[in-house]
Amino acid sequence: MPEHTTDTIAAIASAPGAAGVGVVRVSGPAAPVIAQQLLGRTPQPRHAHFAAFRDDAGELIDRGLLLHFPAPASYTGEHVLELQGHGSAVLLDLLLRRVCELGARLARPGEFTERAFLNGKLDLAQAEAVADLIAARSQAGARAALQSMEGVFSRRVDALLQSLIAVRVHIEAAIDFPEEEIDFLADPAIARQLDAVRAWAAELLREAQRGLRLNDGLRVAIIGRPNAGKSSLLNALAGSDRAIVTPIAGTTRDVLRESLSLDGIALELADTAGLRDTEDEVEREGVRRAHGELQRADVALLVTDTEHAHADLTFFAALPPNVERIVLINKIDRDGLAARSEHRDRAQWLWGSAKTGDGLDPLREHLKQLAGAGSGEGAFSARRRHVLALQRVAMHLDRAAVLADIRAGELAAEELRQAQHALGEITGAYTSDDLLGAIFGSFCIGK
Ligand code: GDP
Repeated sequence: MPEHTTDTIAAIASAPGAAGVGVVRVSGPAAPVIAQQLLGRTPQPRHAHFAAFRDDAGELIDRGLLLHFPAPASYTGEHVLELQGHGSAVLLDLLLRRVCELGARLARPGEFTERAFLNGKLDLAQAEAVADLIAARSQAGARAALQSMEGVFSRRVDALLQSLIAVRVHIEAAIDFPEEEIDFLADPAIARQLDAVRAWAAELLREAQRGLRLNDGLRVAIIGRPNAGKSSLLNALAGSDRAIVTPIAGTTRDVLRESLSLDGIALELADTAGLRDTEDEVEREGVRRAHGELQRADVALLVTDTEHAHADLTFFAALPPNVERIVLINKIDRDGLAARSEHRDRAQWLWGSAKTGDGLDPLREHLKQLAGAGSGEGAFSARRRHVLALQRVAMHLDRAAVLADIRAGELAAEELRQAQHALGEITGAYTSDDLLGAIFGSFCIGK
C-alpha cells in the first residue's frame, strides 16, 4: 500500500438529488474488508457485483452494484470501493453510515483527490483540473479542464523544466571550472539554449493565460462616463434588464456583474460606475470600486460616443499594461453613423448602438476571441497561481540571460534555480501544506 495511507475514508460521491444512481466511494486499507462484509464473499477486482447492502441487524438498506479496485490501480492509488445504489439521499446516508461502522470515516472535501496526488496518481495541476472540471461553467471551460486533467498542461511544464535543467547544468558546469568559466559562458550555444527556453516559457505563459480565461471566464470591465450607455450595453449583451438604465447621469453607483456564456465561452462582465470626480459619497465609493475592477480585468471596454471619444481615452491611462482594450463608439443610431470596426492604437474600435443592437455582433465575436474561442484541441485550463508562477519563471529567465551575458555565472545559475522552483510549484514538486490545504479544501466532498 502507498505510504500515505493510514485510514479509510468514505463519502457520497454523486450529485445530491441526482435521479437514478447514487454512489458511495471508499478508499483506504479497510476497503477490501468492507467489500467482503457487504458482499458476503471476496469481490473480484474490477468486476461489477450485484449486492444486497444490509445494516448490522441484517436489514436491507438497498440493492446495487459493488466494485472493488485494488491498490495501486485505482483513482487514489489505494484500495477503492464503489457502491452504486439508488440515488436517494436517505438511502445513501444509511449506506455511508454502514460503511463507517465497518471501518471507514467521513472524507473531507477533496480528500480522494488529495490522496491521488499524495500517491503520485495525479500531479497538482491535474488535481486542480478535477475541481475545475466539476465547476466548469462553459463547454470550452470543461473541455480545457479535461485536457489539464489528462496532463496536457503538466507535460508542457515538465518539458520546459527539462530544457531549463539542461541549461542550468551547462552553466553550473562552467562555474565548477573557474579557470575556464569565462570561456564556457562565452559559448554562443548557452545563449541560444537560454533564448530557446525563454521563448518557450513565454509561449507557455500565453497559453496558461488563455487557459485561465477558459477556466474563470474572460473578465470584462465596462468603463466610461455616466450616461455613455454602459448599463444599456451590459443589458444588450446579457439579454436581460439586470442593470438599471435611466437617463440621469450617475445611476450606476455600484459595480454590477453579469456572467454570460457566448456560444459556450464564459464572460464575466462588470458595469462600473462612471469614472468621474464627484462630491456624492455613494457615487465616490462606486468610482473607487470601478478602479479596483480595472486592476483585475482581462479586458477594459470603454463605452463612449463620437463627441467624447477623444477625451474618454484618458480612462485607459491607469490600466495595467496587459489589459486588452476595446473602444465602443456608442449611439450611432442617434448620430446617423454606420456600424464598423478597426484596430487602432493598441485597441479594437467598434461603432455600434447598445439601444438598437446594431454593431454588437462584431463586439461579441471579438470578446469570444479574447476569451479563447477556437483555441483548438490542445487548449488546457489553468489557474491564476499557475499564471503567476509562469510570470516568475519568465522574470528569472530574463535575469539569467542578462547575467549570463555579462558572464556572472553563479548569479545566472541562481536565477535558473529559482525559475525551476517556480515551475515545480505548478505541478506540486515544491508545495507547502498551506497551499495543499487551500487547494483541496475548495473541492466538493466525495472527490
Ligand atoms: P450608463 O450611465 O453609461 O450606464 O448609461 P445608460 O445605459 O444608463 O444609458 C444612458 C442613456 O443613454 C439612456 O437613456 C439610454 O437609453 C441611452 N442610450 C444608451 N445607449 C444608446 C444608444 O446606442 N443609442 C441611443 N440613442 N441612446 C442610448
